[in-house]
Formats: sequence, structure tokens, C-alpha cells
Amino acid sequence: MNVWLVRTEDFNEKSLVKIEELLNAYDGPLTFNSHKHIIPTSISASGSIHPDEAMIYIADFRKSHKIAQTDFVCLYTNTRLTNNFFTHGDGLKNFMIHSADWGLYTNAGNEFPDAYLLYSNILKSFVYENYDMMYSHMHKDSSLGCYMDLCIHKREILLKLRTADICDKCLEHIHAKHIDGRIIGQILDAFEGLRKQLLFRNRLQLETKLSRLEITQKGRFILTDYGNIELKFSPLRKAIYKLFLESKQGYTMADLLDSDGKLIKLYQSFQPNKTTEELSTTIKNICDPHSMRIHEEISKINAEIVKKLGERISVNYIISGERGEKRKINYNSIKDKTY
Ligand SMILES: [Zn+2]
Repeated sequence: MNVWLVRTEDFNEKSLVKIEELLNAYDGPLTFNSHKHIIPTSISASGSIHPDEAMIYIADFRKSHKIAQTDFVCLYTNTRLTNNFFTHGDGLKNFMIHSADWGLYTNAGNEFPDAYLLYSNILKSFVYENYDMMYSHMHKDSSLGCYMDLCIHKREILLKLRTADICDKCLEHIHAKHIDGRIIGQILDAFEGLRKQLLFRNRLQLETKLSRLEITQKGRFILTDYGNIELKFSPLRKAIYKLFLESKQGYTMADLLDSDGKLIKLYQSFQPNKTTEELSTTIKNICDPHSMRIHEEISKINAEIVKKLGERISVNYIISGERGEKRKINYNSIKDKTY
């Protein structure tokens, strides 16, 4: 089941990709895809968008890109909604989310509430047949921490995200609908995972616990105890990182040259569509002692880890060591037990 993410002109493309990545960190039938289509901000002369108007633009988008009726569409914007809501849905699998101003309440990154709101909108659309029915069930008291709290202030949405809770009454409604368990599982995993990631970001300076690292069947590198933070690597970097994960002693660059057979096999497991010859040429180039390629690849791997985990915790996960010496990953328990 596809969910298409589109944006208005004033919503940064990189932010949309960040949200997409975060949404896809939880396995299940829902697949999130950021779309190149842009809705011009000039649609609103008043500086705000009327939700009904936005729904018309989404309908046009659906038509021109032949989006299946069963698919969801969510429009992200930094333009205010005329009714000052943060999110709106029409009950027909179309949503919009106003993403500005989160920075006033959290330093963790807009992508967390932006992703949470979409998962929560999708859940509501499975439980309630139309907008009016959904709205009538929303808790007018926003302090329950339930996903159905009607939040007047953005900080209340962050409270919902921190609790990731669903009250007993709402659980009953969900249960009564007999929704596909895999969809519910994915949404609940996302609620819990996003909560953990948000807390992890907020406590980055204090966090001492290290997370297990899991390589999923689809070849994704997931830090399961940090709410499924994903380390995004190219297939080549996945192969190099896994090679280091599998070695206690680590490798000097000269050792790598001798391990090229192992590296080719790992590379193949992440890049099955290339021929053995192509894979082997790439690996031979990477391991060439006269080339700087391997150092560049390791720096890129480490940069991704530092970007996701911050400097302090990253020392346990990066490939470290001076040039000329053995380079290795310090944190033994992620290597021994958990991936
Ligand atoms: Zn509730």
C-alpha cells in the first residue's frame, strides 16, 4: 500500500526525504514515497491555504500522476492553514500537514512530529469512515496523550509523540474495525519507534546505553534500541561496514587487499543485480593501495554514523584507527551478538 508524499514550493525537498526515510524505518504493508511533484505556494494569495483548496490540488495531483485510489497522499507545507489547524484530512486518503514552528518546542528535528502526524492520520482513516465521524470522536481534552487528542497547540502534539499512547476507548474502536494486523503493527511500531528516536535526540548528550545493530532481510542497518534509527549506506558501504563488523581484529589497508574475495561476496549480497565481474572490478579499485578510495568510503560511512548518533556515541560504531594501523569498530557487543 503506497503513501505518496508531496510538498508545496516552500517546503524543502531534503526535509521531505528525511521524513520519507523516517516513515520507512518500520516494516509493514505501508510504503512511503516522496514524489517530485511540487504544488506552488502561489496558490494562496492570502499567505495561507484553505484545507479544501489544498484537497483540490491533491485531487489534481492524483489525476495527473494516475495515483491509485487505494493509495494515500500527504501534502507537507510550511504555509499556514486558514483554520490554523496543523493537519487536515478529507476522509478520502488525502492529508495535509503544516510543518512550520516545531522548532519552538523541540530541537530534535521537524521530521519526528511530521512523521508521527502522518502515521496517526493513516490510523484514523482506517478507524473512522469520514472526517465528521473522526472529528466527533477526537478528545477535546488534549492532555490524555492519546493519538486522538485534539491538539490546539503544537506542543500538545509533541506530548502525544512523547507518550505514543492510545487510550482504552480508542483501542476498542481500532479493535472493532478488524484492520489488517500487519498495518496496525507497523503503525504501533512507528509510534513507539518515533517516540524513542525523539527521546534519543533530546537526550543525546546524556545517553549512555548502546543499541544493538540489526541488518534486516532487506539489507537495512537498523539501530533497534534507538527506535529503529537507520544508518543509510550505499551497497558498497554496507559491504565494507559489514566486513568490519564481522572482524574482531579489524584490518589494515594491506589486509583488505587479501580479503577482497570476502568483500566481493558481501557486496554481491547487497547489490545482487550486478555481475560478478562488475562487482570484482569495483572492489579491486577500492582496495588498490595507490588509491584513496577506501579511505573516502570509510570517511563517508563514519560521517553518516556521526550525523545520526552525534559525536559522543558514535565512537562505539565508527570504523576507527590511524592510517597505516589496523582499523576496526570498537564496540564488540554489536559485533558479537546482535546483528
Ligand atoms: Zn483516545
